[in-house]
Amino acid sequence: MSASGPALAAGEALFAPQVTFLRGVVELGQLPPMDRPEVAFAGRSNVGKSSLINAVCNQNSLARASNEPGRTRELNFFDVSGKLWLVDMPGYGYAKAPKELIVRWTALMGRYLAGRASLKRVMLLIDARRGLTDTDEEMMADLTRAAVVFQIVLTKMDKLKPAEQCAVRDATILSIAKRPAAFPQVIETSSETGAGIAEIRAAIAELCGLV
Ligand code: GDP
Repeated sequence: MSASGPALAAGEALFAPQVTFLRGVVELGQLPPMDRPEVAFAGRSNVGKSSLINAVCNQNSLARASNEPGRTRELNFFDVSGKLWLVDMPGYGYAKAPKELIVRWTALMGRYLAGRASLKRVMLLIDARRGLTDTDEEMMADLTRAAVVFQIVLTKMDKLKPAEQCAVRDATILSIAKRPAAFPQVIETSSETGAGIAEIRAAIAELCGLV
């Protein structure tokens, strides 16, 4: 964690106004214009994505729990200060979702990731208790193919003892070192304690050129 003072302040200012929901996108034609930087949050179902987005945006129920089987899943777009599109991607790796839905979603995600020039970074959430799983590896491969830079965000760090935190930190850094599309810094977070939330805001403010 090494966000500078100015970056932390810019992050706080960026997320100070109320974040508003724009729309849920189910086909590419519904995407908003590429008129500002965009940052997307991705991760396995139940990784803690809704909780983290709510914490970053200072709101309790902005992002809904996304792990219900078979629920229509969308790319949810949020307007942050009129300066950023924050995108909540559907949770992946839910084994019980209908196959047809998974195929449709994989295709849409592929087209979204490959064609979105304004997408600055994908925050790829990893449950600190599990570390990187096979489906995370697939996601990283998809992001690399689409030439989208991703940054690993470890979630639920509060559930680990200090020694376990060190172990998952080291293993994650080692694992992404060989991936050219991976941003070299890992952000460690807990939506429970608020750890790492200011760092995420700071990283996003930097991506938006606000620092
Ligand atoms: P999503 O499916 O990725 O959107 O995950 P949710 O945000 O709905 O969280 C899944 C479960 O993990 C819920 O029971 C949350 O209360 C819990 N959870 C999420 N973030 C944290 C965290 O930072 N610490 C702890 N201890 N639990 C968390």
